[in-house]
Amino acid sequence: MIKRFILLGAPGVGKGTQAKKLSDHFGWSHISTGDMLRKAVQKGTPLGQQVKVYVEKGDLVPDNLMVELVKDRLDEDDCRHGFLLDGFPRTVPQAKKLDAFLDDRGLGLDGVISIEISDEEVVNRLSKRFVCVDCGFIVVGDDKTSRDRHCPSCGGTLAKRQDDEVDTIRHRLNVYEKSTRSLIEYYQKQNLYVRIDGMGSVDAVYERILNTFGIKPDRNHDSN
Ligand code: AMP
Repeated sequence: MIKRFILLGAPGVGKGTQAKKLSDHFGWSHISTGDMLRKAVQKGTPLGQQVKVYVEKGDLVPDNLMVELVKDRLDEDDCRHGFLLDGFPRTVPQAKKLDAFLDDRGLGLDGVISIEISDEEVVNRLSKRFVCVDCGFIVVGDDKTSRDRHCPSCGGTLAKRQDDEVDTIRHRLNVYEKSTRSLIEYYQKQNLYVRIDGMGSVDAVYERILNTFGIKPDRNHDSN
């Protein structure tokens, strides 16, 4: 079952967690542009040096850089089995370039899943979020207990993301409203947009996504 999905939603709605679950289960490639950028920053690559300030402040990296990064990634072999884009596109120009790229290859999107929660819940979740620096596993907890704990998935170190400070979270929410929310209308016009309520447990949200798309968890890697 080759599928090509986009996960939309403000920071902190659980896109990364849901993308990981879906892609692990169905064998789709999980493409998180935020993770790609953070890795580049961590390694100090030329791309990392170019994007560091944007990522740390919660501002959007310029479209041309993002589009080239994603196009190269989507041309890699593993994406032939399907992919989930998490964090891309974030602007209408990025979405248009993605459409053109897929069109050139005779491909299209199967759906755009937008996970929605209130801004207050975003602030609440992100200010308690710790991320494993090795595998990206997300842990929600309070500062004191989580800082010294290890990743329950791989045993790696848990750390707070620099952009998860309250002021930066609020800034990222504003950036989302200003630049990314217009994508909803863009994908509604293409009949691809589906809104998912992001409140409740990870499993409850996952089930909502599967139900909405009629995806059966017992099928794996069929051809399209
Ligand atoms: P995320 O992990 O998706 O919240 O992304 C973290 C940061 O990476 C964002 O605040 C932006 O600075 C940058 N970023 C990730 N994806 C994009 C994108 N598609 N366009 C522009 N900037 C991005």
